[in-house]
Amino acid sequence: MKLTKQQRQALHAKYDGRCAYCGDLLPDRWHADHIEPIVRNWWNGTCEHPERNTLENFNPSCPSCNIIKSSQSLEAFRKVIGGFITSLNRDSTQYKFAKRYGLIMEQEIEVKFYFEKH
Ligand SMILES: [Zn+2]
Repeated sequence: MKLTKQQRQALHAKYDGRCAYCGDLLPDRWHADHIEPIVRNWWNGTCEHPERNTLENFNPSCPSCNIIKSSQSLEAFRKVIGGFITSLNRDSTQYKFAKRYGLIMEQEIEVKFYFEKH
C-alpha cells in the first residue's frame, strides 16, 4: 500500500521520530518498513504476502536498519544483528585490534529493538 502524506507523518511520529529498531533519529529519507515482510517479487511486481500490507504492519525505520532487515522476520533480523559480533571477530582485523586494546567491550545480551523498550 502507498502511504498518504498524513499516514507517513503519523508513522514518523510513532516512536517520536526515531527508528523503531535502533532508536536513532530518523533521517530525511527514512523508510516505512513492513514489520512482517510482504516479500516483493521484483521480477513481476507482485508480493508473497499482500495480506500484510496494512497500516498496522508498518514501522518507521532508518535506511540502514531497513536495508539489513530486508525481507526478514523480526526474529531473523534479531539473529543477524546478534551474529555481527561473530563475523567481526572472524573477519575484521581492525575490530580485533581495537578489542585487544580495550576500545571495544563486548556484551552477551539479547538484541532488543527500540520499539520493544518503549
Ligand atoms: Zn535504525
